[in-house]
Amino acid sequence: MPEGDTVWLAAQRMNTALAGTTLRRSEFRLPQLAALDLSGTTVREVVPRGKHLLIRLGDGRTLRTHFRMDGSWHIYRPGAKWRGSPAYDIRVVLATDEWECVGYRLHDVDIVPTADEDRLVGHLGPDVLGPDWDLEEALRRLRERPDEQIGVAILDQRNLAGIGNLYKVESLFLVGVHPWARVADVPDLAALVERARTLMLANRHHPEQSTTGVTRRGQDHWVAGRKGRPCRRCGTPILLGEQGPPTQERVTWWCPKCQAAHSPVDPQARTGEPGRPQPVTLYR
Ligand SMILES: [Zn+2]
Repeated sequence: MPEGDTVWLAAQRMNTALAGTTLRRSEFRLPQLAALDLSGTTVREVVPRGKHLLIRLGDGRTLRTHFRMDGSWHIYRPGAKWRGSPAYDIRVVLATDEWECVGYRLHDVDIVPTADEDRLVGHLGPDVLGPDWDLEEALRRLRERPDEQIGVAILDQRNLAGIGNLYKVESLFLVGVHPWARVADVPDLAALVERARTLMLANRHHPEQSTTGVTRRGQDHWVAGRKGRPCRRCGTPILLGEQGPPTQERVTWWCPKCQAAHSPVDPQARTGEPGRPQPVTLYR
């Protein structure tokens, strides 16, 4: 699942391949950018901003891509077989003398003057993996909506940028907070945010996303992907529900015992009212 650490790693690799080089060929298999040709353009740098990847060009423009749920960049030597996905998933190709960068299932592909990057990413809160990470500002933004569910607030990229669903559920488990708890009821908001950040820092140099310290599949997460399996701490079966505003629901796993503190009294009964927890859709 592409989260901030995935984008960070992709940006590092893309930057190593492209920074300071001249593009020999570009392809945009997107209707709105089909005529765009970047051949002859130099690449200054490739940087992550939250879950956005910014490719800054020597001509003063920035190419922005976003992975959302399923996107990826693959880097190949010229002549190597492209193995990322079927060709119809390719959205962008950027080729230099030494590398071919192939973007699969990219979303939000856009090109703007670098000076106007804020039009694309200016709404984002402090970047969890950014050089200018600002915990106090992230906490201030989170606390602006004290009645929001913490499981929704921590994914809201306007509060802080980079955290996705995996690090949301895992950090909530590790600090013992129920995903439906109100922001105002989280006893140590800083500890929660720092836990998510620590997990992402630990995983940013490799594609595996382990939160337990074990990378073996099936042992790499505390609650994510473990519906009905015993909690690693207390043995209680892990629950799975849907959380978030309509059309933006994300699956959420939690342990009803380890994360009982500050849970809504009866989430099923407190529905519909603004500022109240939305109904919990449980998968059994
Ligand atoms: Zn438990």
